[in-house]
Amino acid sequence: MTKVDILIMGSGPAGYTASIYAARAGRSTRLITGPQPGGQLMITSSIENYPGFVDPISGPSLMDQMRQQAEKAGVEIMNDVTASVDLSSNPFVCVGESGTTHRCNALIIAVGACAKWLGIPGETRYRGSGVSACATCDGFFFRQKDVAVIGGGNVAVEEAIYLTNFAKKVVLIHRRNELRAEKIMQIRLMKNPKIEVLWNTKTMDILGDGVKVTSLLLSTPDGEVERPIDGVFVAIGHRPATSIFDGQLEMDKNGYIVTDKTSSCTSSPGVFAAGDVCDPVYRQAIVSAGHGCMAARDADWFLSQ
Ligand code: FAD
Ligand code: NAP
Repeated sequence: MTKVDILIMGSGPAGYTASIYAARAGRSTRLITGPQPGGQLMITSSIENYPGFVDPISGPSLMDQMRQQAEKAGVEIMNDVTASVDLSSNPFVCVGESGTTHRCNALIIAVGACAKWLGIPGETRYRGSGVSACATCDGFFFRQKDVAVIGGGNVAVEEAIYLTNFAKKVVLIHRRNELRAEKIMQIRLMKNPKIEVLWNTKTMDILGDGVKVTSLLLSTPDGEVERPIDGVFVAIGHRPATSIFDGQLEMDKNGYIVTDKTSSCTSSPGVFAAGDVCDPVYRQAIVSAGHGCMAARDADWFLSQ
């Protein structure tokens, strides 16, 4: 496989934006889509806070526009997942699960984050048989059923509201007595007659009949209770997908890539990071897109030296 000036890992808002800027700077640019082409927004049905769209736009539509814009700018888009990297010398080497070896003089890491799981026994046992981390993908299977959403952030609240399109009843289970989600989302949640919120409640286990989920074991302020349920949506946040960089780049204790305060530079010259992978604070599509722009410009300056 030929070497490129700039290789971008990830096809979320950070990766696509970086690729558009890199290609427009005249650099040969290849983007590797990763396991989730389009990134996290592919599992959301409605985005209301990405500037430029008066009416809500679906995640897949927004990401399709970004992909087309990247293609038009001349970006080479490849469906592959980077399995290993060697950042010890330039050109850097990235090997894909397809067996393809990619070489580049500047690397932009925009691999985002993946869903976190609770780590309780029934969760693994019934994943795909009543346990999911994506309401947009799996909500349809729970028509007229009772479902639970676990978490208290924007995603949990959005998923709970979305699930009312299908489910008979949605119970949102949160470990504290206060939601982390934006106020506007909280108001919509509380107004929805199909949603019940269980406060200060921890999910101890997901129980089933061996084939599908049947109930939740909950620890409530009044003690342990078993609550019948047909489906469980875990929405407790995401963690950066950075294990392939272990030992090669500086990361914080949660695995976020550490970047310079005012740029996208990582601890390795010529390697840049953008988006959720280096942002434990904002984790918004528009911020990721902004990071992508920074990373492409930083990479272009690096190559000009
Ligand atoms: P991601 O979107 O996570 O993309 C990461 C990319 O990296 C993916 O394409 C993946 O395939 C790729 N990748 C991973 N591993 C590898 C690898 N080994 N090799 C190559 N590629 C790899 N934000 C908003 O601003 N507004 C919203 O309304 C909103 N709604 C959301 C709804 C949901 C359900 C979720 C989960 C998040 C939502 N967010 C929203 C947050 C937003 O999705 C993220 O902030 C944003 O997608 C981060 O962009 P990113 O490009 O950094 O990473
Ligand atoms: P988040 O904001 O980090 O919220 C995670 C939630 O899960 C928190 O309420 C947390 O509880 C809970 N939680 C974490 N670990 C848990 C565990 N082990 N057991 C039980 N509960 C647990 O994550 P998110 O909701 O996925 O959102 C991610 C980012 O995307 C955020 O920055 C969000 O703003 C953004 N986003 C934005 C929009 C929008 O703008 N409309 C939509 C979706 C997402 P505590 O509160 O107790 O910590």
